[in-house]
Amino acid sequence: MHRLREQLLALAHELGDKRQMAICGEGNISGQLGPDRILIKASGTSLRTLRPEALVEVRTRALLQALREERAWTDQEVEDLLMSARCDSAALKPSVETLFHAWLLSLPNVRFVGHVHPIATNQVLASARAAEFAIRRILPDQVVYCGARSLLVPYVDPGLALARRIREVARAFQGRYRTIPRTILLQNHGIIATGSTPAHVSAALAMAEKAAAIMVGAAALGGLRYMDPKEVDRIASRADEHYRRAMLQPEGRGKV
Ligand SMILES: [Zn+2]
Repeated sequence: MHRLREQLLALAHELGDKRQMAICGEGNISGQLGPDRILIKASGTSLRTLRPEALVEVRTRALLQALREERAWTDQEVEDLLMSARCDSAALKPSVETLFHAWLLSLPNVRFVGHVHPIATNQVLASARAAEFAIRRILPDQVVYCGARSLLVPYVDPGLALARRIREVARAFQGRYRTIPRTILLQNHGIIATGSTPAHVSAALAMAEKAAAIMVGAAALGGLRYMDPKEVDRIASRADEHYRRAMLQPEGRGKV
């Protein structure tokens, strides 16, 4: 089996085994096969029990072109676009979220994308305090694995509209902070993590979920103390170094 397929299956099973991350057909994972090709989970399949045939090989050129357009597409047009993007016409239907995966995988240093609907993260993202969770930081390791700040995307219909919105706000984030968001928070929906390895992605998702659980608990105890922005900047400035060290460990056995 192709190594990328093995890596994606392992990532899917790891995320799906943690039931607070995704149940039923929730969530999806993808990886970059080449400049114009990705592997992505098929629509409606379960992360926990994902099988090799449920990873669909997709060409991304037409998908990226659709994101650049402004006109509204019908659901049927989007469905046809996804089906015709498959490299093998006998393959399963790719996830409806293939469009945002394709765009994120076209960014520098992004080789893997994971998206889940975690309980604690969604407790925050369904609350009035979602923006704070994106901008402020609670724990040093949250800075290291999730980035100094996350991108928050207001609720948008999943599919083409959501992918276009993610592209628009991620570009603004990139322009402002000179970096690609490592974690993207989708209001009333879930979280996306990008990374150059599956370990980056799973660590970012797990750390965001932990920080969200701590945020909810601390708020219930009468008050939440965020890290000082200067403390966040100090950790962020060493984060790349820290990252490289952590990633030297074999996958699944290091600190992440
Ligand atoms: Zn989703």
